[in-house]
Amino acid sequence: MPWQTNVRTVTPYVAGEQPRQANIIKLNTNESPYPPGPAVARALAALSADDLRRYPDPDCDALTQTLADYHGLSPEQVFVGVGSDDVLALAFLTFFNGPEPILFPDISYSFYDVWANLYRIPFRTPALDEDFRIVKADYLSANGGIIFPNPNAPTGILEGLDLVEDIVRANDDSVVIIDEAYIDFGGESALPLIKQYDNLLVVRTFSKSRALAGLRIGYAMGQAGLIKYLKDAKFATNSYTMNTPSLALGVAAIKDEAYFKETRAKIIRTRAWFAKELGALGFSFPEPMANFIFATHEKIPAAYIFADLREMGIYVRHWQRPRIDNYLRITIGSDEEMRVLIDNLRSILESD
Ligand code: PMP
Repeated sequence: MPWQTNVRTVTPYVAGEQPRQANIIKLNTNESPYPPGPAVARALAALSADDLRRYPDPDCDALTQTLADYHGLSPEQVFVGVGSDDVLALAFLTFFNGPEPILFPDISYSFYDVWANLYRIPFRTPALDEDFRIVKADYLSANGGIIFPNPNAPTGILEGLDLVEDIVRANDDSVVIIDEAYIDFGGESALPLIKQYDNLLVVRTFSKSRALAGLRIGYAMGQAGLIKYLKDAKFATNSYTMNTPSLALGVAAIKDEAYFKETRAKIIRTRAWFAKELGALGFSFPEPMANFIFATHEKIPAAYIFADLREMGIYVRHWQRPRIDNYLRITIGSDEEMRVLIDNLRSILESD
């Protein structure tokens, strides 16, 4: 059809499956196995239908101030959005507008190339080394921007702050985005570096360690000048990105620090137990620093295990992509879920 030449086409991102049937052990999208804390439940109960009659606060002042206080920043250094996907998409649109290609690892969050394609941003994807580590030298050449998750997804590997700082320092002519979706599960955040580097943006989410994937809250932190550009782009697109319930419940979630710490500690403990059991079954994996383990088996191909687990009602993530097609990314669920998974893996391996 002739009008199609005017269409902005893109191959979309494929999100992990959200099963419709009950009783699935769902370990495929890195959600928390625990519900949000009691303070969030109370804030939800306190909302009334009439609260939805008016537009929400376009500046998201209460949530922005709460996050600023929590991180020891000023509100001008914080930007909130509809999940970190929304924040990251807007950051691509805003900061990656130069002629040089942006850089991100070949094995990384698979939304990055989708946004780059959507916005017609040229990009290069330097290969991680054979241990899936970032090769610093790859990020020291001319570029239009840099982004990587730390810990990386789907590998779960944490890079040290020295490497992050070296990359940020060496690229003062482009914006470096560190996607810290999983930093709460054991890593050292790049956040303190924003004081020193005006080209650093640190992005976080409420979807994992804060058990609020269904609410959709993400945020970015950086120097006020950087954040102002994000706000300008947001107010040039949609004034009211954050809905009234998410603004209220997000504040409640941040104020419930004890519950956050307790559930995070539980997930880290379960991760240690599960890693030991997985190793005993002949799996190997990089040291897991997020709320998932990226594992490969010495004998049985990942695609078989993935299909068998699916039949058993256990969903994990598998990508048919070069270099990682023999790996499974397994979210850390509850102790009980991980016990069932280990039992099922044992029976798959025994029957093969
Ligand atoms: N970054 C990374 C590395 C992720 O794995 C995810 C989760 N899919 C996100 C960002 C987006 O999370 P959300 O939009 O739920 O905040």
